[in-house]
Amino acid sequence: MDHKDIWQNPQPKEETTKDNSAPVLNDPQLGPSEWHKSYPLAQGSRQSPIDIVPARAVFDPSLRPLVVTYESCTSLSISNTGHSVMVEFEDTDDKAAISGGPFQDPFRLKQFHFHWGRTHSQGSEHTVDGKPFPCELHLVHWNGRKYATFGEAAAAPDGLAVVGVFLEIGKEHSSMNRLTDALYMVKFKGTKAQFGGFNPKCLLPLSLDYWTYLGSLTTPPLNESVTWIVLKEPIRISEKQLEKFRMLLFTSEEDQRVQMANNFRPPQPLKGRVVRASFKA
Ligand SMILES: [Zn+2]
Repeated sequence: MDHKDIWQNPQPKEETTKDNSAPVLNDPQLGPSEWHKSYPLAQGSRQSPIDIVPARAVFDPSLRPLVVTYESCTSLSISNTGHSVMVEFEDTDDKAAISGGPFQDPFRLKQFHFHWGRTHSQGSEHTVDGKPFPCELHLVHWNGRKYATFGEAAAAPDGLAVVGVFLEIGKEHSSMNRLTDALYMVKFKGTKAQFGGFNPKCLLPLSLDYWTYLGSLTTPPLNESVTWIVLKEPIRISEKQLEKFRMLLFTSEEDQRVQMANNFRPPQPLKGRVVRASFKA
């Protein structure tokens, strides 16, 4: 299976379906429930996302505050990967990185992308007490001190650090406009546009209180290489802004159009893992 096609379902029969995003998740040939056939790791011991139950999270006073140093970060491009919209960064050094938290080394920013629903009632990958948010931002970082390349880091159990930020519906997020206004350029799968000078620090909430646990990538190849940092405080964007994400397509220009939405994997079994909290409940 081409992992770029995991969400895509250009089957003509789906044309008659009212909710044309649902088959992507529900089609037994393509949805996350079938990934294990091509990627046995889908049933591994530290898969993501998970449902976070705050009452079961363990406050760990040894966890340091998360330090985000994105001041001089250089965004390069925005692209439609066929399963999300992604903004990529120059990552030849640690000038845009996170540190502190549970980490010994800084982790440099590689890219960010989003997961969202066709309706507001779903969309995030992580859930809190079983409740999904309409959208979730993932800021993907790798350990450039310990590993030579992103690929090498992604193959190691401690190579990646992903910061998850929940998005809920509220008033317009002014910094998000630059991004949502660029989405029309990458409507089709495989398209890419220049996107310089965007600093994702503007997408973080005021509080950097977090839950952390050991997990995986949430799309194939599902590598168990991620230390997750899920921020407790959501950010807000307007309905209109979220609608712009739903204008994107899973499909290429020449294919039958399938709306990009519901591009989330549901929560996976905890399998004995402990979620630690940087804050007292
Ligand atoms: Zn993601």
